[in-house]
Amino acid sequence: MSERNGLTNLLNPVVQLSYRKHIHVLKLRKIIVVGGGASGLMAAGRAAECGAEVMLLEKMATPARKIRITGKGRCNLSNTADISDFITHFGTSGRFLRQVFGQFFSGELTEFLASHGMAVTVERGGRIFPSHADAPAVARVLIDWCKSVGVKILPTHPVSELIITGEMVSGVVCNKKIISADSVILATGGKSYPRTGSTGDGYKLAESAGHTLVPVSPSLVPLMADKAVVKELAGLELKNIKARLYINLKKKKEAFGELIFTHAGLSGPIILTMSSIVVEALKEHKQVAIHLDLKPALDDKKLDARLLRDRGNRGNEPMHSVLRGLLPQPLVAVCLNETEIDPEVAANQLNAEKRKKLRYWLKDFRFKITGHSSFDEAIITNGGVATREIEPRTMESKKTRGLYLVGELLDIQAETGGYNLQAAFSTGWVAGQSAAL
Ligand SMILES: Cc1cc2nc3c(=O)[nH]c(=O)nc-3n(C[C@H](O)[C@H](O)[C@H](O)COP(=O)(O)OP(=O)(O)OC[C@H]3O[C@@H](n4cnc5c(N)ncnc54)[C@H](O)[C@@H]3O)c2cc1C
Repeated sequence: MSERNGLTNLLNPVVQLSYRKHIHVLKLRKIIVVGGGASGLMAAGRAAECGAEVMLLEKMATPARKIRITGKGRCNLSNTADISDFITHFGTSGRFLRQVFGQFFSGELTEFLASHGMAVTVERGGRIFPSHADAPAVARVLIDWCKSVGVKILPTHPVSELIITGEMVSGVVCNKKIISADSVILATGGKSYPRTGSTGDGYKLAESAGHTLVPVSPSLVPLMADKAVVKELAGLELKNIKARLYINLKKKKEAFGELIFTHAGLSGPIILTMSSIVVEALKEHKQVAIHLDLKPALDDKKLDARLLRDRGNRGNEPMHSVLRGLLPQPLVAVCLNETEIDPEVAANQLNAEKRKKLRYWLKDFRFKITGHSSFDEAIITNGGVATREIEPRTMESKKTRGLYLVGELLDIQAETGGYNLQAAFSTGWVAGQSAAL
């Protein structure tokens, strides 16, 4: 073996391990991964690639059910933001991820996917998607890779207990049987979208290993509004609008983009972004309101000029027809009703006071927020296992040796934009490698 090849091989953990095996040093580490989502599959594949004997126990009949529905079936895998920017999207939990991202980040993820035949594309806001916009294909790549590197995937294998001897994990209980291992990687996810298998089992398992839970709540979740009109508007999507969030009458946040009316209230990217603050405020019985600016590109003066122009050009037309130039059809009736403008009144008969009322409404369409949807509709779970109890370089538990905790099970949560999946992939990869070597 040439010196160059020798060096290359030492840098490649797989070859490095088979080299050690050759000189009788290696005893294969036996690793159990609990949960076959984004973090668990990445952990299992990486551990096996590093030479460990890996068994992945998944409680559902098929792994990766959540990955298949991410990004509305398109899977927003990651984001092009650099690490310093990326971690700011996790709020206070971001700092914990710096060391993990230093080892496996968006570049490594896209290289990994490319090496398995999946190209990616970058969209608005640096969002990374598979080029074929196919979330199930991402699940297939991960599962096929795991199988190809020797991971034994066992579906319908729910883990109910961890076996801990002294301060060390030595296996799990699954379907009433004990399965022993040198290390266990807990990748059971949070509590959101429980129909995908993420029912919060990992919290109980982590607590049994001495961990503390930061209380969990649904996040990136639709909000409920008190107005009857939301039912009439259900399904309507508004693009390029601004939403302002008020808590106890104080403005807390604003967001620009897309909103969707649901049967019970408001959803869509700009609402989901605000939802974690809203969930906390409602818990504390604070007053929450969202005001929509339907014409953010026009200030009061420009909007008035626009209304006057309409009056000049379309003076004889009734207001319900003139407003179609400013609003989508379902909003016209709501607008006329709330501003008490007679739908049949001609535009040139609208007095200054009514025009002012119309302007205010267009820039300040208000909703009192009365609640939020449950975990059933939450994109992620806020809270989880306290990260101060996890070694940030390896993801090993500081409470129980040989136990690793990854993904959404931890108290890490980000906005939409591909950040959550990257965190699951990165923590999984690092734990898989650390447990194996
Ligand atoms: C509708 C939707 C769309 C989303 N879109 C995006 C997106 O586009 N981009 C993004 O970044 N994030 C997105 N997310 C969030 C992202 O999917 C999650 O943060 C990520 O999948 C978490 O991965 P995980 O491996 O930690 O957990 P999960 O994916 O939840 O996987 C946990 C796995 O563990 C299994 N399990 C649970 N308990 C046990 C047990 N006792 N024994 C054995 N197995 C068990 C579950 O069945 C499941 O397969 C979306 C979430 C939802 C719900």
